[in-house]
Amino acid sequence: MTGTATPPAESAPVLLEVRNLSAHHGQLPAVRDVSLSLRAGETYAVIGANGAGKSTLLRTLAGLHRPSAGTVRLDGVDVTRLSPERRLQAGIALVPEGRRLFPSLSVHENLLVGTYRARPGPFHLARVHDLFPWMAERRNQKAAALSGGEQQAVALCRALLANPRLLLLDELSLGLAPIIVERIYALLPQLLADGLTVLLVEQDVGQALRVATHLHCLLEGSTTLTGTPDELRQEDLEVAYFGGLHLEPVAPGGAGEEA
Ligand code: ATP
Repeated sequence: MTGTATPPAESAPVLLEVRNLSAHHGQLPAVRDVSLSLRAGETYAVIGANGAGKSTLLRTLAGLHRPSAGTVRLDGVDVTRLSPERRLQAGIALVPEGRRLFPSLSVHENLLVGTYRARPGPFHLARVHDLFPWMAERRNQKAAALSGGEQQAVALCRALLANPRLLLLDELSLGLAPIIVERIYALLPQLLADGLTVLLVEQDVGQALRVATHLHCLLEGSTTLTGTPDELRQEDLEVAYFGGLHLEPVAPGGAGEEA
């Protein structure tokens, strides 16, 4: 299959190294023995169906979920036991599934949360307002009054304001109209140019293929396939994603979308 994103140079250093990571919800193994490696400047997509373990994996990398086994290294430093706050300071920021803004706070106040103990770097309020001018104009509007796409943009900017080295994006496209999703993903090249490395999770394989330099498929918590978009064959991806079941694809613009 053909990808459109430009991979980093072979010589780019490894930024994130995940080895044999497992995570449970009670007795349920949600992530099973997952290993992956991201080079600086990469856009790495973890794909998988509902319940495949994608969010648990990202939350474990962000320090919000305790792993039951395995290690996470950022730039060679073992961060497996660090709290979410310490990981943020080390340079790992998560845009969580469902945005998780403070609905009764204004756009500006939600953004300020991201600046708390931020690392030095290219992202500051003026830069965010350059990316999304409406955020300056509507700075006093309550987050609850924003559309889903606008909320997603604020959640993304809140994470950027921490000036992470590694940005974790959990299903940006969830519940949003395709045009809105496209606009948000269109920012990725600018973020990469600013030195970010991106690990995203997506249910939408087409979207992942459009933006990622490497795909990693999970099924019931386990890795079933990894490779660059050019290496992966459609039939193998379907089996890796669905476990051999061939389901009818969901039409774009389906139920539950919001702008
Ligand atoms: P989705 O796309 O639906 O968010 P996912 O690939 O992100 O799915 P996870 O949310 O990580 O998958 O869920 C992995 C497994 O862990 C699923 O079986 C899910 O039901 C279970 N799970 C997730 N969160 C919890 C929780 N808080 N308590 C118990 N089980 C959970």
